[in-house]
Amino acid sequence: MGEIERNYYNKRSPAPAQLGTKEVQNNFIPLCVPELGGNELEYIKECIDTNFVSSVGPLVGKFEEEFAKYVGAPYAVATVNGTSALHTALIVAGIQPDDEVIMPSLTFIATANAIHYIGARPVFIDSDPDYWQIDPSKIEHFLETECTYKNNALFNKTTGNPVRAIMPVHILGHPCDMDAINDLAARYGLIVIEDATESLGATYKGRKVGTLASIACFSFNGNKLITTGNGGMLVTSNKEWAIKAKYLTTQAKNDPLEFIHGDVGYNYRLSNILAAMGLAQLEQIDLFVQKKKKIAARYTEAFRNVPGLSAMKEAPWAESVFWMFTMLVDKEKYGMDSRGLLTKLDRYNIQTRPLWQPIHLSPAYRHLAPRDCRTAKRLNELALSLPCSVGLTEEEQESVIYRVVNSR
Ligand SMILES: *Cc1c(COP(=O)(O)O)cnc(C)c1O
Repeated sequence: MGEIERNYYNKRSPAPAQLGTKEVQNNFIPLCVPELGGNELEYIKECIDTNFVSSVGPLVGKFEEEFAKYVGAPYAVATVNGTSALHTALIVAGIQPDDEVIMPSLTFIATANAIHYIGARPVFIDSDPDYWQIDPSKIEHFLETECTYKNNALFNKTTGNPVRAIMPVHILGHPCDMDAINDLAARYGLIVIEDATESLGATYKGRKVGTLASIACFSFNGNKLITTGNGGMLVTSNKEWAIKAKYLTTQAKNDPLEFIHGDVGYNYRLSNILAAMGLAQLEQIDLFVQKKKKIAARYTEAFRNVPGLSAMKEAPWAESVFWMFTMLVDKEKYGMDSRGLLTKLDRYNIQTRPLWQPIHLSPAYRHLAPRDCRTAKRLNELALSLPCSVGLTEEEQESVIYRVVNSR
């Protein structure tokens, strides 16, 4: 049994009725930290013993293969982080400077940055109020009322730029409504690129994220479901795109001996040592998902009857991995707002976080055409994410629950 199983499953499990009634002392409880109780050290040591610590070595290919198998995608290309995977995906999908790419306002800023890196422009769309993902009806509204066809191409009437792609982001472990998004993409001739960086393992109508469009990206940053410290992966069903992605992420090298480079490439390679860590993490992924779901179920149960708190929900068509556990705090009913609760929990050594500033309001992007994303704004005001590390013990979770229930 791995460390996390020992830590977690041997703790006593109080009946749900008792949740939040007992004060439990705790040490610092972080929001979300890596769980490294598997074969990480052994595999990394192997790299050191064999001297394959950098870009050469057998494990990058092996990690790509195993990852593709897990997700169910035909091809996978490992990258140095999730942002570089997104950047590469946009390039191989043919997105050009000044093209517009539809994406949610409520997400981590890396998605918008990747679009910006190639000189393209993000179009920020509001969230749906129930599951907080990009709202397909608002994408449709944008396409119908703000875009027009010229010479068989779709243009944004306000900016005059071509509208080329949708980049749905499955935020917080929950998939977007992909049928609706893919239908719109087919109707308007748009490319779909999944930003699946937060939702590895989640499924939409039984199909895993990463296989719901022809190209998708993942991240192995420290707070993601599995981590390599820093790392990412691009997956695709398009063989040509996969080949091009591998080429571009490895400095576009045509002749390794004579240093002939056929294009401007990038140094976006993952190292053998990090691939080793990724393989060890991937071995534990089913257990990690199980743990995340268990943590979310317990919080949901504990807060069910607390006035003013509403836990994140799972859509009928979704199986969320609950990468993050996020709830909304209604100031009137709970008696304190989300930031007040954050400060209060911080005093008890419990780390919590709001969601991201909606990007249409960000100093980095607010110069773009103004957009109405009022749900994203409201969610940002109300949301608070609670500790949800895979290694969170039941006792630690009890402390968090006690403080949340009794802080009002
Ligand atoms: C984590 C994340 C990324 C970027 O991943 P990195 O590995 O940190 O570069 C991109 N998009 C979203 C939505 C993310 O949460």
